[in-house]
Amino acid sequence: MKVCVVGIGYVGLVSAACLAEAGNDVVCVDIDQKKIEALNKGVIPIYEPGLTEIVQRNKKLGRLVFTTDLKTGVENSLMIFLAVGTPSAEDGSADISTILEVSESIAQLLEDYRIIVTKSTVPVGTYKKVTDLISAKTEVKFDYVSNPEFLKEGSAVEDFMRPDRIIIGTKNPAVRELMKQLYGPFMRQSNRIVFMDPISAEMTKYAANTMLATRITFMNEISELCEQLGADAEHVRRGIGSDSRIGHSFLFPGIGFGGSCFPKDIRALIYSGNKCGVQMSLAKTVQDANAKSQDRFARKIVDYFSGSVGKPVLAVWGLAFKAKTDDVRESPAINCVKRLLDNGMKIRAYDPEAGESGAAALDGKIEIFDNGYDALDGADALIILTDWQEFRNPNFESICRRLKKPLIFDGRNLYDLGVVKKFGIEYYSVGRAAVLP
Ligand code: NAD
Repeated sequence: MKVCVVGIGYVGLVSAACLAEAGNDVVCVDIDQKKIEALNKGVIPIYEPGLTEIVQRNKKLGRLVFTTDLKTGVENSLMIFLAVGTPSAEDGSADISTILEVSESIAQLLEDYRIIVTKSTVPVGTYKKVTDLISAKTEVKFDYVSNPEFLKEGSAVEDFMRPDRIIIGTKNPAVRELMKQLYGPFMRQSNRIVFMDPISAEMTKYAANTMLATRITFMNEISELCEQLGADAEHVRRGIGSDSRIGHSFLFPGIGFGGSCFPKDIRALIYSGNKCGVQMSLAKTVQDANAKSQDRFARKIVDYFSGSVGKPVLAVWGLAFKAKTDDVRESPAINCVKRLLDNGMKIRAYDPEAGESGAAALDGKIEIFDNGYDALDGADALIILTDWQEFRNPNFESICRRLKKPLIFDGRNLYDLGVVKKFGIEYYSVGRAAVLP
């Protein structure tokens, strides 16, 4: 099939590359000229495991084309996917101005029937706004599909290639068939497409993200209680997760959720509720409780060093909002570092992929290292903020030798309490007893 994807960010580039990998011809359109130039040279602007190979292969085969010219995409494609950003506006609502701008431009370019598919996360009612806007600008027939994306950064290619489900919101049976054909290669074992009306599809995305954020937040609150009462949150996590009604996903104790989706989508859901007189009280509580979880971990470190002479120097491992991404948007790790900087601490940081983006988000106020061990030299403590795989089995001897004294604050519960004890490390984690030397 001939497909155009508008907005070549984390969602757009992965979707375009995976659709091309399935044999479709994909035109990728982005307003960012530098990004398009880089992609045309084979340089991938984001870190996402497995993405570089499929982008380069499909580009070489001519199935993946990058341009800033929307006209090329609209002229040559039956389906036009919208994957532009929908950031939070100041009032918490989702800012869909780019979606509307792009829709208007598409309307002006339409010469033949097209299917416009929204992958971006858009509030309920965007379906009507976009269809009304396009209908007012052109007589050409078109269909609109709400197809919210559920991929996770860090496993986006895998998620797109083997989705748990695909939500297709359309009222037109012929369009359903075409969407089924497009997604067929990604669900060969069983059909996991869930068809519904566009309004319910829009709602499904917000409900899913808020539900996941709620699980994380619940576990973080339970962890705080565990710490107070002497229970071990890791045992509790395994204990509740093994109940098949609950499951293990999104139950890891940590420093609060973040990233480019959960915080903004919860804000937008609360805003939508307020607009139509429905109090989203659970979502509001999740938002507040998450802010407390983020604060709690930073406070532990600040309290530890209060009254110390001179500026504490901290080695930080991890700036990305989670492992396997370079994305630092609303990263709880960045929030924690900001808090530490505000309290006069000096930060020497390492992240396998997010060093550059992290330093930019912190206005260059931290020192970035290419190697986690070099960041430790002479530091007062190691602070772990992202759950990168390479942090899980470190050389503890080297950590002990390079720090001023063996002291770790672990916001991701990466280490076994017995192991750190064996190395004589003073260790503070989340929802578990402190290990004292
Ligand atoms: P992003 O910021 O990484 O990418 C957006 C892209 O759109 C950028 O490359 C930008 O240059 C481009 N763009 C902006 N204006 C444009 C225009 N007028 N014409 C063409 N391109 C334009 O955003 P993202 O993280 O990929 O998210 C996109 C949407 O998908 C959001 O609504 C988000 O909520 C949703 N989503 C994101 C994820 C995720 O994990 N990042 C997962 C599911 C859904």
